[in-house]
Amino acid sequence: MKKVRKFIFVVGGVISGVGKGVTCASLGAIYKAKGLKVTALKIDPYINVDAGTMNPVEHGEVFVTDDGDETDQDMGNYERFLDTSLLSGNYMTTGRVYLTVIENERSMKYKGRCVQVVPHIPEEIIGRIKRAAEAQDADVTIIEIGGTVGEYENILFLEAARIMKLQDPGSVAFILVSYMPIPSHLGEMKTKPTQHASRALNSAGINADFIVARGKDVLDKPRLEKLAIFCNIPAERCISAPDVSSIYELPLLLEKADLANKLLKVLGLKPRKTDMTPWISLNKKIVQTTKEVKIAVVGKYFGTGDYTLSDSYISVIESIKHAAWFNNVKPVLEWIDSEEFEKKPASVKLLAKFDGILVPGGFGTRGVEGIMNAIKFARENNKPYLGLCYGMQLASIEFARNVLNKKNAHTVEVNATTIDPIIHINPKQLENVRHNRYGGTMRLGAYDCVLKKGSKTQKAYGEDKISERHRHRYEFNNDYRKMIEEAGLEVVGVNPESDLVEIVELKNHPFFVGTQFHPEFKSRPMRPQPLFREFVKAAISSK
Ligand code: GLN
Repeated sequence: MKKVRKFIFVVGGVISGVGKGVTCASLGAIYKAKGLKVTALKIDPYINVDAGTMNPVEHGEVFVTDDGDETDQDMGNYERFLDTSLLSGNYMTTGRVYLTVIENERSMKYKGRCVQVVPHIPEEIIGRIKRAAEAQDADVTIIEIGGTVGEYENILFLEAARIMKLQDPGSVAFILVSYMPIPSHLGEMKTKPTQHASRALNSAGINADFIVARGKDVLDKPRLEKLAIFCNIPAERCISAPDVSSIYELPLLLEKADLANKLLKVLGLKPRKTDMTPWISLNKKIVQTTKEVKIAVVGKYFGTGDYTLSDSYISVIESIKHAAWFNNVKPVLEWIDSEEFEKKPASVKLLAKFDGILVPGGFGTRGVEGIMNAIKFARENNKPYLGLCYGMQLASIEFARNVLNKKNAHTVEVNATTIDPIIHINPKQLENVRHNRYGGTMRLGAYDCVLKKGSKTQKAYGEDKISERHRHRYEFNNDYRKMIEEAGLEVVGVNPESDLVEIVELKNHPFFVGTQFHPEFKSRPMRPQPLFREFVKAAISSK
Protein backbone atom coordinates (compact mmCIF):
# COMPACT_ATOMS: atom_id res chain seq x y z
CA MET A 1 0.00 0.00 0.00
CA LYS A 2 1.26 3.44 -0.82
CA LYS A 3 2.22 5.45 2.23
CA VAL A 4 -0.02 8.39 3.09
CA ARG A 5 2.06 11.52 3.23
CA LYS A 6 0.87 14.76 4.78
CA PHE A 7 2.05 18.24 3.84
CA ILE A 8 1.96 21.33 6.02
CA PHE A 9 2.66 24.67 4.37
CA VAL A 10 3.85 27.51 6.55
CA VAL A 11 3.48 31.03 5.19
CA GLY A 12 4.26 34.39 6.73
CA GLY A 13 2.07 37.41 7.30
CA VAL A 14 2.77 41.13 7.84
CA ILE A 15 6.57 41.12 8.18
CA SER A 16 9.47 38.86 7.32
CA GLY A 17 11.60 37.56 10.14
CA VAL A 18 8.47 36.70 12.09
CA GLY A 19 9.77 33.26 13.09
CA LYS A 20 8.43 30.95 10.40
CA GLY A 21 11.65 28.94 10.34
CA VAL A 22 11.71 28.28 14.04
CA THR A 23 7.96 27.54 13.98
CA CYS A 24 8.51 24.92 11.26
CA ALA A 25 11.50 23.49 13.12
CA SER A 26 9.60 23.36 16.43
CA LEU A 27 6.56 21.72 14.88
CA GLY A 28 8.86 19.18 13.26
CA ALA A 29 10.53 18.49 16.60
CA ILE A 30 7.11 17.79 18.14
CA TYR A 31 6.14 15.38 15.35
CA LYS A 32 9.46 13.63 15.78
CA ALA A 33 8.71 13.36 19.51
CA LYS A 34 5.41 11.78 18.49
CA GLY A 35 7.27 9.06 16.66
CA LEU A 36 6.45 10.31 13.17
CA LYS A 37 8.92 10.57 10.32
CA VAL A 38 9.19 14.23 9.50
CA THR A 39 11.12 16.37 7.10
CA ALA A 40 11.17 20.08 6.29
CA LEU A 41 11.66 22.07 3.11
CA LYS A 42 12.68 25.67 2.68
CA ILE A 43 11.50 27.68 -0.28
CA ASP A 44 13.56 30.81 -0.90
CA PRO A 45 11.81 32.98 -3.50
CA TYR A 46 15.07 34.52 -4.77
CA ILE A 47 16.25 34.20 -8.36
CA ASN A 48 19.64 33.03 -7.02
CA VAL A 49 20.00 29.34 -7.76
CA ASP A 50 21.41 28.81 -4.28
CA ALA A 51 22.35 30.89 -1.26
CA GLY A 52 26.06 30.55 -2.03
CA THR A 53 26.09 33.73 -4.09
CA MET A 54 24.17 35.80 -1.54
CA ASN A 55 25.96 38.13 0.84
CA PRO A 56 25.61 36.61 4.34
CA VAL A 57 25.34 40.06 5.90
CA GLU A 58 22.19 40.65 3.88
CA HIS A 59 20.73 37.18 3.61
CA GLY A 60 22.16 35.43 6.68
CA GLU A 61 24.39 32.41 6.93
CA VAL A 62 24.92 30.05 4.01
CA PHE A 63 24.03 26.66 5.45
CA VAL A 64 25.77 23.73 3.74
CA THR A 65 24.19 20.29 3.48
CA ASP A 66 26.02 16.95 3.46
CA ASP A 67 25.48 16.68 -0.29
CA GLY A 68 27.06 20.07 -0.83
CA ASP A 69 24.15 22.42 -1.38
CA GLU A 70 24.50 26.03 -0.26
CA THR A 71 21.19 26.80 1.39
CA ASP A 72 19.29 29.15 3.65
CA GLN A 73 20.01 29.43 7.37
CA ASP A 74 16.55 28.07 8.20
CA MET A 75 17.77 24.68 7.01
CA GLY A 76 20.17 24.82 9.96
CA ASN A 77 17.28 25.32 12.35
CA TYR A 78 15.46 22.36 10.84
CA GLU A 79 18.53 20.16 11.20
CA ARG A 80 19.12 21.27 14.78
CA PHE A 81 15.52 20.86 15.91
CA LEU A 82 14.85 17.63 14.00
CA ASP A 83 18.31 16.24 14.78
CA THR A 84 18.61 15.04 11.23
CA SER A 85 20.60 15.71 8.07
CA LEU A 86 18.69 17.26 5.20
CA LEU A 87 19.64 17.15 1.56
CA SER A 88 19.72 19.47 -1.42
CA GLY A 89 16.18 18.36 -2.31
CA ASN A 90 14.96 20.04 0.89
CA TYR A 91 15.81 23.46 -0.49
CA MET A 92 14.56 25.34 -3.53
CA THR A 93 14.70 28.82 -4.94
CA THR A 94 12.79 30.47 -7.76
CA GLY A 95 16.02 30.40 -9.78
CA ARG A 96 16.45 26.68 -9.27
CA VAL A 97 12.88 25.91 -10.30
CA TYR A 98 13.07 28.06 -13.45
CA LEU A 99 16.48 26.65 -14.34
CA THR A 100 15.07 23.11 -14.35
CA VAL A 101 12.02 24.09 -16.38
CA ILE A 102 14.18 25.89 -18.93
CA GLU A 103 16.61 22.97 -19.14
CA ASN A 104 13.65 20.62 -19.59
CA GLU A 105 12.35 22.78 -22.39
CA ARG A 106 15.77 22.79 -24.09
CA SER A 107 15.90 18.99 -23.97
CA MET A 108 12.38 18.56 -25.41
CA LYS A 109 11.02 17.09 -22.18
CA TYR A 110 7.77 18.99 -22.81
CA LYS A 111 7.50 17.33 -26.23
CA GLY A 112 6.87 20.51 -28.18
CA ARG A 113 4.18 21.99 -25.97
CA CYS A 114 4.22 25.70 -25.15
CA VAL A 115 5.99 25.99 -21.82
CA GLN A 116 4.20 28.40 -19.52
CA VAL A 117 4.62 29.91 -16.08
CA VAL A 118 1.37 28.17 -15.18
CA PRO A 119 1.16 25.15 -15.08
CA HIS A 120 4.81 24.26 -15.63
CA ILE A 121 6.38 26.21 -12.76
CA PRO A 122 3.91 24.99 -10.08
CA GLU A 123 4.21 21.47 -11.53
CA GLU A 124 7.96 21.55 -11.06
CA ILE A 125 7.53 22.90 -7.52
CA ILE A 126 5.04 20.16 -6.61
CA GLY A 127 7.35 17.52 -8.08
CA ARG A 128 10.21 18.80 -5.96
CA ILE A 129 8.13 18.81 -2.76
CA LYS A 130 6.88 15.26 -3.35
CA ARG A 131 10.32 13.93 -4.25
CA ALA A 132 11.81 15.43 -1.07
CA ALA A 133 9.06 13.83 1.04
CA GLU A 134 9.75 10.49 -0.63
CA ALA A 135 13.53 10.76 -0.36
CA GLN A 136 13.19 11.16 3.41
CA ASP A 137 10.25 8.76 3.58
CA ALA A 138 8.36 11.39 5.58
CA ASP A 139 4.95 10.94 7.13
CA VAL A 140 4.78 14.69 7.61
CA THR A 141 6.53 17.23 5.39
CA ILE A 142 6.66 20.82 6.56
CA ILE A 143 7.22 23.38 3.82
CA GLU A 144 8.22 26.94 4.63
CA ILE A 145 7.42 29.44 1.91
CA GLY A 146 9.80 32.37 2.30
CA GLY A 147 8.69 35.98 2.40
CA THR A 148 5.20 37.14 3.30
CA VAL A 149 1.83 36.62 1.61
CA GLY A 150 0.86 39.34 -0.81
CA GLU A 151 4.29 39.62 -2.41
CA TYR A 152 4.83 38.94 -6.11
CA GLU A 153 7.84 36.79 -5.37
CA ASN A 154 6.21 33.80 -3.73
CA ILE A 155 2.95 33.75 -5.67
CA LEU A 156 3.83 30.69 -7.78
CA PHE A 157 4.79 28.72 -4.69
CA LEU A 158 1.41 29.55 -3.16
CA GLU A 159 -0.17 28.48 -6.43
CA ALA A 160 1.65 25.13 -6.20
CA ALA A 161 0.41 24.71 -2.62
CA ARG A 162 -3.15 25.58 -3.62
CA ILE A 163 -3.06 22.96 -6.39
CA MET A 164 -1.71 20.32 -4.00
CA LYS A 165 -4.60 21.02 -1.63
CA LEU A 166 -7.10 20.86 -4.47
CA GLN A 167 -5.72 17.54 -5.67
CA ASP A 168 -5.70 15.96 -2.22
CA PRO A 169 -7.60 18.13 0.31
CA GLY A 170 -7.13 15.74 3.22
CA SER A 171 -3.36 15.74 2.96
CA VAL A 172 -2.54 19.43 2.91
CA ALA A 173 -2.85 22.05 5.66
CA PHE A 174 -1.81 25.69 5.96
CA ILE A 175 -0.41 27.70 8.83
CA LEU A 176 -0.17 31.47 8.67
CA VAL A 177 2.56 32.70 10.99
CA SER A 178 1.74 36.34 11.40
CA TYR A 179 2.82 39.35 13.39
CA MET A 180 0.66 41.25 15.88
CA PRO A 181 2.19 44.66 16.51
CA ILE A 182 1.71 46.61 19.72
CA PRO A 183 2.17 50.27 18.66
CA SER A 184 3.75 52.12 21.57
CA HIS A 185 1.31 55.04 21.38
CA LEU A 186 -1.63 52.63 21.71
CA GLY A 187 -0.16 50.01 23.98
CA GLU A 188 -2.47 47.31 22.68
CA MET A 189 -2.01 44.44 20.30
CA LYS A 190 -3.49 44.99 16.84
CA THR A 191 -4.89 42.16 14.71
CA LYS A 192 -5.78 44.21 11.61
CA PRO A 193 -2.48 43.65 9.72
CA THR A 194 -2.98 39.90 10.13
CA GLN A 195 -6.56 40.16 8.92
CA HIS A 196 -5.17 41.76 5.76
CA ALA A 197 -2.56 39.02 5.44
CA SER A 198 -5.30 36.43 5.73
CA ARG A 199 -7.27 38.18 2.95
CA ALA A 200 -4.15 38.26 0.79
CA LEU A 201 -3.84 34.53 1.28
CA ASN A 202 -7.52 34.12 0.38
CA SER A 203 -6.90 35.91 -2.89
CA ALA A 204 -4.36 33.20 -3.71
CA GLY A 205 -7.17 30.68 -3.21
CA ILE A 206 -6.00 29.53 0.20
CA ASN A 207 -7.61 29.77 3.63
CA ALA A 208 -5.21 29.16 6.50
CA ASP A 209 -6.19 26.30 8.79
CA PHE A 210 -4.19 27.77 11.66
CA ILE A 211 -2.75 31.09 12.68
CA VAL A 212 0.34 31.29 14.81
CA ALA A 213 0.07 34.77 16.29
CA ARG A 214 3.56 36.09 16.91
CA GLY A 215 4.03 39.15 19.02
CA LYS A 216 5.67 40.58 22.08
CA ASP A 217 2.85 39.41 24.33
CA VAL A 218 0.22 36.73 24.60
CA LEU A 219 -2.78 37.15 22.30
CA ASP A 220 -5.68 37.75 24.67
CA LYS A 221 -9.15 36.23 24.33
CA PRO A 222 -11.02 39.19 22.74
CA ARG A 223 -8.33 39.59 20.07
CA LEU A 224 -8.09 35.89 19.50
CA GLU A 225 -11.82 35.75 18.85
CA LYS A 226 -11.61 38.71 16.51
CA LEU A 227 -8.82 37.06 14.58
CA ALA A 228 -10.81 33.83 14.34
CA ILE A 229 -13.92 35.54 12.94
CA PHE A 230 -12.15 37.80 10.47
CA CYS A 231 -9.66 35.21 9.28
CA ASN A 232 -12.30 32.52 8.97
CA ILE A 233 -10.54 30.11 11.33
CA PRO A 234 -11.98 28.36 14.42
CA ALA A 235 -10.76 30.08 17.60
CA GLU A 236 -9.01 26.96 18.93
CA ARG A 237 -6.82 27.03 15.86
CA CYS A 238 -5.48 30.51 16.60
CA ILE A 239 -2.29 29.88 18.54
CA SER A 240 -0.63 32.60 20.56
CA ALA A 241 3.16 32.56 20.26
CA PRO A 242 4.65 35.42 22.26
CA ASP A 243 8.39 36.17 22.24
CA VAL A 244 10.48 33.57 24.02
CA SER A 245 13.88 34.08 25.61
CA SER A 246 15.35 31.11 23.76
CA ILE A 247 14.23 29.62 20.46
CA TYR A 248 14.42 26.17 22.07
CA GLU A 249 11.42 27.10 24.21
CA LEU A 250 9.11 27.23 21.20
CA PRO A 251 8.58 23.45 20.87
CA LEU A 252 7.31 23.44 24.47
CA LEU A 253 5.09 26.46 23.88
CA LEU A 254 3.53 24.99 20.71
CA GLU A 255 3.08 21.62 22.36
CA LYS A 256 1.30 23.28 25.28
CA ALA A 257 -1.10 24.82 22.74
CA ASP A 258 -1.55 21.32 21.27
CA LEU A 259 -0.86 22.64 17.76
CA ALA A 260 0.61 19.40 16.42
CA ASN A 261 -2.34 17.21 17.44
CA LYS A 262 -4.90 19.76 16.25
CA LEU A 263 -3.12 19.71 12.90
CA LEU A 264 -3.14 15.91 12.78
CA LYS A 265 -6.90 16.07 13.27
CA VAL A 266 -7.29 18.50 10.35
CA LEU A 267 -5.19 16.08 8.29
CA GLY A 268 -7.46 13.19 9.22
CA LEU A 269 -5.02 11.50 11.60
CA LYS A 270 -5.44 10.44 15.23
CA PRO A 271 -3.78 12.50 17.96
CA ARG A 272 -0.55 11.04 19.33
CA LYS A 273 1.29 11.21 22.64
CA THR A 274 4.43 13.31 22.74
CA ASP A 275 7.55 12.78 24.79
CA MET A 276 9.08 16.21 25.27
CA THR A 277 11.42 15.19 28.13
CA PRO A 278 14.68 16.05 26.32
CA TRP A 279 13.31 19.51 25.43
CA ILE A 280 12.16 20.11 28.99
CA SER A 281 15.62 19.16 30.32
CA LEU A 282 17.35 21.38 27.77
CA ASN A 283 15.22 24.37 28.68
CA LYS A 284 15.85 23.81 32.38
CA LYS A 285 19.56 23.90 31.70
CA ILE A 286 19.27 27.05 29.63
CA VAL A 287 17.58 28.97 32.42
CA GLN A 288 19.44 27.41 35.34
CA THR A 289 23.07 27.82 34.27
CA THR A 290 24.59 30.92 35.82
CA LYS A 291 28.37 30.44 35.73
CA GLU A 292 29.55 32.20 32.59
CA VAL A 293 32.00 31.28 29.87
CA LYS A 294 33.16 34.28 27.84
CA ILE A 295 33.98 33.65 24.22
CA ALA A 296 35.37 36.26 21.85
CA VAL A 297 34.37 35.78 18.23
CA VAL A 298 36.89 37.63 16.08
CA GLY A 299 36.35 38.40 12.42
CA LYS A 300 35.26 40.87 9.80
CA TYR A 301 31.66 41.76 8.84
CA PHE A 302 31.30 42.81 12.42
CA GLY A 303 30.58 46.46 11.89
CA THR A 304 27.02 46.01 10.69
CA GLY A 305 25.10 45.88 13.92
CA ASP A 306 24.21 42.90 16.05
CA TYR A 307 21.09 41.87 14.20
CA THR A 308 22.58 40.95 10.85
CA LEU A 309 25.67 39.69 12.54
CA SER A 310 23.98 37.01 14.53
CA ASP A 311 22.19 35.84 11.40
CA SER A 312 25.43 35.64 9.43
CA TYR A 313 26.97 33.25 11.95
CA ILE A 314 23.91 31.59 13.41
CA SER A 315 25.30 28.02 13.33
CA VAL A 316 28.51 29.12 15.06
CA ILE A 317 26.54 30.93 17.75
CA GLU A 318 24.19 28.01 18.29
CA SER A 319 27.13 25.58 18.44
CA ILE A 320 28.80 27.62 21.19
CA LYS A 321 25.50 27.69 23.08
CA HIS A 322 24.98 23.92 22.76
CA ALA A 323 28.52 23.26 23.97
CA ALA A 324 28.15 25.68 26.88
CA TRP A 325 24.86 24.22 28.10
CA PHE A 326 26.33 20.73 27.84
CA ASN A 327 29.22 21.90 30.04
CA ASN A 328 26.74 23.50 32.47
CA VAL A 329 27.78 27.08 31.81
CA LYS A 330 26.07 30.12 30.40
CA PRO A 331 27.49 31.28 27.07
CA VAL A 332 28.49 34.93 26.82
CA LEU A 333 29.59 35.88 23.32
CA GLU A 334 31.26 39.06 22.26
CA TRP A 335 31.83 40.07 18.65
CA ILE A 336 35.12 41.70 17.98
CA ASP A 337 35.84 43.49 14.74
CA SER A 338 39.32 42.35 13.77
CA GLU A 339 40.01 45.65 12.03
CA GLU A 340 40.43 47.14 15.51
CA PHE A 341 43.44 44.86 16.04
CA GLU A 342 44.81 46.00 12.72
CA LYS A 343 44.58 49.67 13.54
CA LYS A 344 45.80 49.25 17.11
CA PRO A 345 47.76 46.00 17.42
CA ALA A 346 48.30 46.55 21.15
CA SER A 347 44.54 46.45 21.73
CA VAL A 348 44.70 42.70 21.17
CA LYS A 349 45.44 42.52 24.90
CA LEU A 350 41.76 43.06 25.58
CA LEU A 351 41.33 39.41 24.62
CA ALA A 352 42.87 38.47 27.98
CA LYS A 353 39.48 38.87 29.67
CA PHE A 354 37.95 36.13 27.51
CA ASP A 355 38.06 32.42 28.28
CA GLY A 356 38.29 31.38 24.64
CA ILE A 357 38.80 32.86 21.17
CA LEU A 358 37.00 31.71 18.06
CA VAL A 359 37.61 32.76 14.47
CA PRO A 360 34.77 31.76 12.13
CA GLY A 361 34.84 31.31 8.37
CA GLY A 362 35.30 34.25 6.07
CA PHE A 363 36.43 35.51 2.71
CA GLY A 364 38.64 38.27 1.36
CA THR A 365 41.17 40.71 2.68
CA ARG A 366 39.41 42.93 5.17
CA GLY A 367 40.42 42.44 8.79
CA VAL A 368 42.76 39.53 8.05
CA GLU A 369 45.87 41.02 9.69
CA GLY A 370 43.83 41.79 12.79
CA ILE A 371 42.57 38.22 12.94
CA MET A 372 46.15 36.99 12.81
CA ASN A 373 47.08 39.30 15.71
CA ALA A 374 44.27 37.71 17.71
CA ILE A 375 45.41 34.20 16.78
CA LYS A 376 48.97 35.05 17.82
CA PHE A 377 47.61 36.23 21.15
CA ALA A 378 45.73 32.95 21.66
CA ARG A 379 48.76 30.87 20.67
CA GLU A 380 51.21 32.71 22.90
CA ASN A 381 48.95 33.12 25.90
CA ASN A 382 47.51 29.62 26.16
CA LYS A 383 44.01 30.87 25.36
CA PRO A 384 41.78 28.14 23.99
CA TYR A 385 41.38 28.74 20.27
CA LEU A 386 39.00 27.30 17.70
CA GLY A 387 39.48 28.34 14.07
CA LEU A 388 36.86 27.44 11.51
CA CYS A 389 37.84 27.30 7.85
CA TYR A 390 39.43 30.75 7.34
CA GLY A 391 40.23 30.52 11.06
CA MET A 392 42.32 27.41 10.34
CA GLN A 393 43.97 28.88 7.26
CA LEU A 394 44.94 32.09 9.06
CA ALA A 395 46.21 30.14 12.09
CA SER A 396 48.54 28.21 9.77
CA ILE A 397 49.77 31.45 8.19
CA GLU A 398 50.29 33.15 11.55
CA PHE A 399 52.34 30.14 12.66
CA ALA A 400 54.48 30.21 9.51
CA ARG A 401 55.09 33.93 9.92
CA ASN A 402 55.87 34.09 13.61
CA VAL A 403 57.27 30.64 14.42
CA LEU A 404 58.93 29.67 11.15
CA ASN A 405 59.87 33.28 10.56
CA LYS A 406 58.40 33.35 7.07
CA LYS A 407 57.30 36.95 7.30
CA ASN A 408 55.66 37.01 3.86
CA ALA A 409 53.62 33.87 4.36
CA HIS A 410 50.05 34.32 3.18
CA THR A 411 47.05 32.87 1.44
CA VAL A 412 46.88 33.45 -2.31
CA GLU A 413 43.32 34.60 -1.73
CA VAL A 414 44.78 37.82 -0.26
CA ASN A 415 48.23 37.94 -1.89
CA ALA A 416 48.32 36.06 -5.19
CA THR A 417 52.11 36.37 -5.55
CA THR A 418 53.29 35.65 -2.01
CA ILE A 419 56.63 33.80 -1.88
CA ASP A 420 55.26 31.55 0.86
CA PRO A 421 51.75 30.48 -0.16
CA ILE A 422 50.88 28.50 2.98
CA ILE A 423 47.31 28.47 1.71
CA HIS A 424 47.03 27.98 -2.04
CA ILE A 425 44.50 27.11 -4.70
CA ASN A 426 44.30 24.03 -6.88
CA PRO A 427 44.30 24.41 -10.70
CA LYS A 428 40.63 23.46 -11.04
CA GLN A 429 39.56 26.13 -8.58
CA LEU A 430 41.83 28.64 -10.26
CA GLU A 431 40.05 27.99 -13.54
CA ASN A 432 36.69 28.58 -11.83
CA VAL A 433 37.83 31.92 -10.47
CA ARG A 434 39.41 32.98 -13.78
CA HIS A 435 36.17 32.30 -15.62
CA ASN A 436 33.92 33.83 -12.97
CA ARG A 437 32.36 30.46 -12.24
CA TYR A 438 31.43 31.25 -8.67
CA GLY A 439 28.08 29.51 -8.25
CA GLY A 440 28.32 26.14 -6.49
CA THR A 441 31.97 25.57 -7.43
CA MET A 442 33.73 25.64 -4.06
CA ARG A 443 34.79 22.47 -2.26
CA LEU A 444 31.37 21.80 -0.81
CA GLY A 445 29.63 19.33 1.44
CA ALA A 446 30.73 16.31 3.45
CA TYR A 447 34.21 14.83 3.10
CA ASP A 448 35.84 12.12 5.18
CA CYS A 449 38.70 12.94 7.46
CA VAL A 450 41.07 10.46 9.11
CA LEU A 451 42.24 11.55 12.56
CA LYS A 452 45.64 11.14 14.13
CA LYS A 453 45.47 8.71 17.04
CA GLY A 454 46.02 10.31 20.42
CA SER A 455 45.43 13.88 19.22
CA LYS A 456 43.06 16.10 21.21
CA THR A 457 40.78 16.17 18.19
CA GLN A 458 40.67 12.39 17.89
CA LYS A 459 39.95 12.07 21.60
CA ALA A 460 37.20 14.68 21.31
CA TYR A 461 35.45 12.74 18.54
CA GLY A 462 36.22 9.35 20.06
CA GLU A 463 36.51 8.05 16.50
CA ASP A 464 39.29 7.55 13.93
CA LYS A 465 37.36 8.66 10.91
CA ILE A 466 34.84 11.47 10.72
CA SER A 467 32.86 13.30 8.08
CA GLU A 468 32.34 17.06 8.16
CA ARG A 469 30.99 19.71 5.82
CA HIS A 470 33.09 22.09 3.76
CA ARG A 471 32.76 25.39 1.97
CA HIS A 472 36.04 26.82 0.75
CA ARG A 473 38.08 27.42 -2.36
CA TYR A 474 41.60 27.61 -0.94
CA GLU A 475 43.49 24.96 1.00
CA PHE A 476 46.54 24.13 3.06
CA ASN A 477 49.67 23.79 0.89
CA ASN A 478 51.20 20.36 1.52
CA ASP A 479 54.67 21.65 0.54
CA TYR A 480 54.79 23.36 3.93
CA ARG A 481 53.29 20.52 5.92
CA LYS A 482 56.49 18.89 7.16
CA MET A 483 58.08 22.18 8.17
CA ILE A 484 54.99 23.36 10.02
CA GLU A 485 54.49 20.03 11.77
CA GLU A 486 58.11 19.85 12.91
CA ALA A 487 57.76 23.28 14.46
CA GLY A 488 54.75 22.14 16.51
CA LEU A 489 51.57 22.77 14.56
CA GLU A 490 50.48 19.23 13.88
CA VAL A 491 48.28 18.01 11.09
CA VAL A 492 45.82 15.76 12.91
CA GLY A 493 43.16 15.33 10.25
CA VAL A 494 43.58 14.51 6.58
CA ASN A 495 41.19 13.62 3.79
CA PRO A 496 42.09 10.04 2.80
CA GLU A 497 41.36 10.47 -0.93
CA SER A 498 42.99 13.82 -1.67
CA ASP A 499 45.51 14.03 1.20
CA LEU A 500 44.21 17.53 1.90
CA VAL A 501 44.87 18.88 5.38
CA GLU A 502 41.61 19.15 7.28
CA ILE A 503 42.69 19.83 10.88
CA VAL A 504 45.68 21.42 12.57
CA GLU A 505 46.36 21.29 16.28
CA LEU A 506 49.05 23.04 18.30
CA LYS A 507 51.25 20.95 20.58
CA ASN A 508 51.77 22.06 24.18
CA HIS A 509 48.73 24.30 24.27
CA PRO A 510 45.53 23.74 26.31
CA PHE A 511 43.39 23.80 23.14
CA PHE A 512 44.36 25.25 19.78
CA VAL A 513 42.52 23.61 16.89
CA GLY A 514 41.81 24.78 13.36
CA THR A 515 39.52 22.95 10.97
CA GLN A 516 39.29 23.36 7.21
CA PHE A 517 35.67 22.21 7.49
CA HIS A 518 32.75 23.83 9.28
CA PRO A 519 31.96 21.77 12.38
CA GLU A 520 29.20 24.24 13.31
CA PHE A 521 26.83 22.71 10.76
CA LYS A 522 26.52 19.50 12.72
CA SER A 523 26.01 20.67 16.28
CA ARG A 524 22.69 19.84 17.93
CA PRO A 525 21.08 21.39 21.01
CA MET A 526 21.19 18.09 22.88
CA ARG A 527 24.34 16.76 21.22
CA PRO A 528 27.03 19.43 20.90
CA GLN A 529 29.65 19.06 18.19
CA PRO A 530 32.75 17.43 19.79
CA LEU A 531 35.27 20.20 18.97
CA PHE A 532 32.98 22.94 20.25
CA ARG A 533 32.30 20.86 23.35
CA GLU A 534 36.03 20.46 24.09
CA PHE A 535 36.81 24.06 23.17
CA VAL A 536 34.27 25.34 25.70
CA LYS A 537 35.49 22.83 28.26
CA ALA A 538 39.05 24.11 27.82
CA ALA A 539 37.77 27.68 28.03
CA ILE A 540 36.12 26.92 31.37
CA SER A 541 39.34 25.37 32.71
CA SER A 542 41.38 28.35 31.54
CA LYS A 543 39.45 30.69 33.81
N1 GLN B 1 38.14 32.14 2.13
C1 GLN B 1 38.60 30.82 2.44
C2 GLN B 1 38.49 29.90 1.25
O1 GLN B 1 37.76 30.15 0.35
C3 GLN B 1 37.86 30.27 3.64
C4 GLN B 1 36.41 30.02 3.39
C5 GLN B 1 35.60 29.89 4.64
O2 GLN B 1 36.03 30.30 5.73
N2 GLN B 1 34.41 29.37 4.53
O3 GLN B 1 39.15 28.89 1.21
